Amino acid sequence: MVQRVAVIGAGYAGLACAVELAAAGIKVDVFEASRTLGGRARAVELGGLTVDNGAHILVGAYREILRLMAKVGAGGTASAGTPRKSGTALRCESLHLEFPGQVRIAAPSLPAPLHLAWALLSAQGLSFKDKLAAIRFMRTQQAHNFRLSADLTAAELFADQPEHVRRYLWEPLCLAALNTPVGIASAQVFLNVLRDSLAADRAASDLLLPATDFSSLFPEPAARYLAARGSRVLRSTRITEIAKVGAGWTASGHDETHGPYDHLILATAPYHLSQLLTPHPEFAELCRKIKAFHWQPIVTAYLAYPATVRLPFAMVGIEGGHAQWLFDRGALCGQHGLIAAVISGDGPHQALDHTELAAAIHGEIARLLPGLPAPQRSWVIEEKRATFACTPGLARPSAATAFPNVWLAGDYVAGDYPATLEGAVRSGVGAARLILRESPGHQP
Ligand SMILES: Cc1cc2nc3c(=O)[nH]c(=O)nc-3n(C[C@H](O)[C@H](O)[C@H](O)COP(=O)(O)OP(=O)(O)OC[C@H]3O[C@@H](n4cnc5c(N)ncnc54)[C@H](O)[C@@H]3O)c2cc1C
Repeated sequence: MVQRVAVIGAGYAGLACAVELAAAGIKVDVFEASRTLGGRARAVELGGLTVDNGAHILVGAYREILRLMAKVGAGGTASAGTPRKSGTALRCESLHLEFPGQVRIAAPSLPAPLHLAWALLSAQGLSFKDKLAAIRFMRTQQAHNFRLSADLTAAELFADQPEHVRRYLWEPLCLAALNTPVGIASAQVFLNVLRDSLAADRAASDLLLPATDFSSLFPEPAARYLAARGSRVLRSTRITEIAKVGAGWTASGHDETHGPYDHLILATAPYHLSQLLTPHPEFAELCRKIKAFHWQPIVTAYLAYPATVRLPFAMVGIEGGHAQWLFDRGALCGQHGLIAAVISGDGPHQALDHTELAAAIHGEIARLLPGLPAPQRSWVIEEKRATFACTPGLARPSAATAFPNVWLAGDYVAGDYPATLEGAVRSGVGAARLILRESPGHQP
């Protein structure tokens, strides 16, 4: 019977795994190198403001993360339009893609699939021919159960779609979901996302916009949930070595060895695994798989304007410059005047330094809000390895490893989803269930 488990890494995957195990009565030690929980989705302090290392959004299809948030007593979801109140973690809006002055696609509160058909038919800025082409595309994918016989690039998948539909619908959706330029993005993974969001029930396509930071959204409530069940989250504890001791494993930091543990879950980003794996030749094949991964960046620029400045919507698409999406932190989190601009994937913005990029993005926002004063302050956060490049046919490792009691959890582990919070959480839950399956005394 499983007694003690160690999880290395307190990102969304590691914490999801720990919560699932603790809920079944297993004691877990979670080791996190940083003081802050959440990994690639975490709070950062900028000039006295708590923001995130990058603007994130969720969609209604993220059922596992929503289930675990409820389990650990994280804040709830409120409908957009209701007054902001404390305890709200997410603001729910029906799907709408706003490119002010260009295109507006908004899903009404109709049951599926009418919500999508209506959203496309009533889209502003698309011709009737464009709308029919978009609907035909969806119907074709539905007819094939969103499966391709062989993976190809998203650009190839969209090739027959009219230019406006590609530019304002499929390409921004694909880039936002896969964080990989469409020319090299996996069409199959994009279709998986489409199947579970736009093409599923109406709630699955809702946008869930954060009303809090991403350490408070799930990681901190998860840590409290674990502590209440006798498990531990050890912050500022980087594990530098894992060792097999009898049937179990130990995990060592720079001044302490922990364990032995019955099972070990490696929930770090893949590029942090090699230090732990290379001393063990059994992991050679896994190391080789991970080496084949490439990474894509995400840049988030925060621009602080006077408190009266606001965007027409909490989330706005923007086109023709560097920024791709703008978020009004005033409408979302009460940080009035603070606008976050997001750029996913490789692009020409990488040639600019932070000051030049902030100035260019200010110009892009000013085109949307004529008369916009200069920002009082600005910050640019560049996550160079934000996600793996989600390319066609990418071989992702499974949760099981060469050792029967060492498991992987993380957004890159084999699964339907690209590198997302939901992909990370599903993988963590999956690893926990594999352990619980071997431990009949514990109920998943
Ligand atoms: C800027 C940005 C924007 C994004 N936007 C979105 C979005 O809008 N929607 C979405 O769904 N997804 C988004 N993502 C992707 C999402 O954040 C990731 O897929 C997810 O957070 C990955 O979680 P993880 O647990 O797999 O890995 P990580 O978050 O990388 O967690 C790994 C943890 O392990 C710790 N660690 C590493 N080595 C050690 C060690 N030796 N000992 C102890 N601890 C260690 C790290 O400090 C980290 O906390 C975005 C990512 C970024 C960077």
